[in-house]
Amino acid sequence: MSRVYNFSAGPAVLPEEVLKEAAAEMLDYNGTGMSVMEMSHRSKAFEEIIQTAEQDIRDLLKIPDNYKVLFLQGGAHQQFAAVPLNLFKNRVGDYIITGQWAKKAWKEAKLYGTANAIASSEDKTFSYIPDCSDLPVDENADYVYICENNTIYGTKFHTLPNTKGKTLVSDVSSCFLSEPMDVSKYGVIYGGVQKNIGPAGVVIVIIREDLIREDVLPETPTIMRYDVQAKAGSLYNTPPCYGIYICGKVFKWLKKQGGLEAMKERNERKAKILYDYLDESKLFHGTVRKEDRSIMNVPFVTGDKELDTLFVKEAEAAGFVNLKGHRTVGGMRASIYNAMPEEGVVKLVEFMKKFEAEHAD
Ligand code: PLP
Repeated sequence: MSRVYNFSAGPAVLPEEVLKEAAAEMLDYNGTGMSVMEMSHRSKAFEEIIQTAEQDIRDLLKIPDNYKVLFLQGGAHQQFAAVPLNLFKNRVGDYIITGQWAKKAWKEAKLYGTANAIASSEDKTFSYIPDCSDLPVDENADYVYICENNTIYGTKFHTLPNTKGKTLVSDVSSCFLSEPMDVSKYGVIYGGVQKNIGPAGVVIVIIREDLIREDVLPETPTIMRYDVQAKAGSLYNTPPCYGIYICGKVFKWLKKQGGLEAMKERNERKAKILYDYLDESKLFHGTVRKEDRSIMNVPFVTGDKELDTLFVKEAEAAGFVNLKGHRTVGGMRASIYNAMPEEGVVKLVEFMKKFEAEHAD
């Protein structure tokens, strides 16, 4: 068997231990004689899977009792619409535009009401997080929306915005469970799981109970109503059962690693190895303002497009795959999520040093 070092931004590398366990259970899950893929979502066995998964994510994030956890479908994109549909009362949302995903969410909200862009870092290709200490928050805003970790550009909110009392909604798709969070500071936290947690097809929504309302916008599809899904325990329709099962296994794996404090330490150490090298390299440069750097997604360039292409090609041949930057940015990006071992980052840096020695002037 030969596994590569996979630096994909998502879907992304998962813990080997989890994949092996799932493979061993593929034909017979826990004495049921069937795969979780073949199992009724109303069965006792699946009920236990989803309930255990919920409890484990509650433990990991220390989710307060007045928050619901929903395991839904449709990825993060569906939440771009579900958030305004469920949260709009005045049909006003304030958006902080820190990249393509925040922008897409902002544009989606405009379909249902007024979506204000109250801050943006587009002037410098989203290479920094704007100052959010004194934002022009609309007094009628139903919420303030952020994309907490910007997968494409490699920035992260290290301080949450001052929402002036308004509900904070956060897309955490690319930093989910990479470090502890104070859930009580948010109204809604959601993330597609295909980076840090599991296979594409599941989006997890953590929502404060008082924000779950029956009087959602009348055009809200039933399947997208938080109240309906919350009442049904995420089983309003057939959920992405197999994906939820894998998420559950990753939650157990995270607990075994020592929880989110331990993951934060490990992720910071991994990121430091790469950033320290980028800061001293004569060939490779990071593209993000230092204080806003993400510890999950690390974009970098040589400044020469042909050399970038050559690097990506040679890296791939050496077993370091998916290092090409997002098509809108170019250059390279190393995504180093929870399941990327430190050894993968160390070896990547060794490879970069070798490439630098061969190509730097
Ligand atoms: N939000 C963030 C931060 C992302 O990184 C992505 C995808 O990579 C998305 C949203 C879109 O996710 P999905 O494809 O699950 O809709």
